[in-house]
Amino acid sequence: VKFCSDCGSAQLVQRIPDGDNRQRTICEQCHTIHYDNPKVIVGCLPVWEDRVLLCKRAIEPRYGLWTLPAGFMEHGESTEQGAMRETWEEAQAKVEDLHVHSLFSVLHITQVYIIYRARLSSLDFAAGIESLEVALFKQQDIPWDGLAFPAITQSLQDFFSDREQGHYQVHVADLAKRAFDH
Ligand SMILES: [Zn+2]
Repeated sequence: VKFCSDCGSAQLVQRIPDGDNRQRTICEQCHTIHYDNPKVIVGCLPVWEDRVLLCKRAIEPRYGLWTLPAGFMEHGESTEQGAMRETWEEAQAKVEDLHVHSLFSVLHITQVYIIYRARLSSLDFAAGIESLEVALFKQQDIPWDGLAFPAITQSLQDFFSDREQGHYQVHVADLAKRAFDH
């Protein structure tokens, strides 16, 4: 951040505000404190019978690798609405019956992942602008070595394990950097 988003001043300093305990970016001109907090990633694990829908990324990072439809939550939407929107944007797919599946804190990139297990409403899907290809995979056909992010691998492993046991749970975990080193 180079300029104050409130008054446009370039007089930004890093300092701990009174009553706070962390350094913040503060505008010396208008005294606005610019907080910078973790981002929320919302997405779906869309299911059709014994298959899961994955998207092949058409964007960096991890271009060409497979992922679940997910992205940054937007202002004015719930986590569930965001997950459905991302599924529509990346896979042109409608989903229903959403249940929280993964709740991951990804500490080193300061993100929170909320992935919903959902039922695909129909076989009507197609690659959105951020996807090269969208397809349904059975467990044995999942491209395990070609998945974009460990949070996706973890979500899929948890899903198939739950499915085998006939009991779905909410999976809460902290993913450290180590978990991301392939
Ligand atoms: Zn300012």
